[in-house]
Amino acid sequence: MAEPTVFERIVAREIPADILYEDDRIIAITDIAPKAPVHLLVVPKTAEYENVAALAAGDPQLLADIVAVAQDLATERTGGDYRLIFNTGEDAGQTVFHVHAHVLGTGLQEGSLGSEL
Ligand code: AMP
Repeated sequence: MAEPTVFERIVAREIPADILYEDDRIIAITDIAPKAPVHLLVVPKTAEYENVAALAAGDPQLLADIVAVAQDLATERTGGDYRLIFNTGEDAGQTVFHVHAHVLGTGLQEGSLGSEL
């Protein structure tokens, strides 16, 4: 069996996190190393999907629900303007191979995307 991902460990309460939203399939947390004044992660509880393309192909409703949670949190926390980023692949800055959406609010500098996230 593969080692549990950091997000599975957060779901299992094995490591602490600032949990902003949770339902039976999704959890949203504050990013531990924020790149903007608001930097949240919206994550499916399942580690079955490594990236957004796999999630879209395998469970499009779950992807739609992740986008809806991102929108709701951004409406609460950024006034509704935000960037939604799914890093895909190491060269794009993906470090956790358990799909997750970055929700970035105000204050993000142009050019600060990519390998920093
Ligand atoms: P990525 O580089 O796109 O795979 O994104 C992984 C994100 O997870 C990074 O922005 C990390 O800062 C974040 N991260 C890693 N460990 C934790 C943790 N324990 N709690 C919250 N965020 C985390």
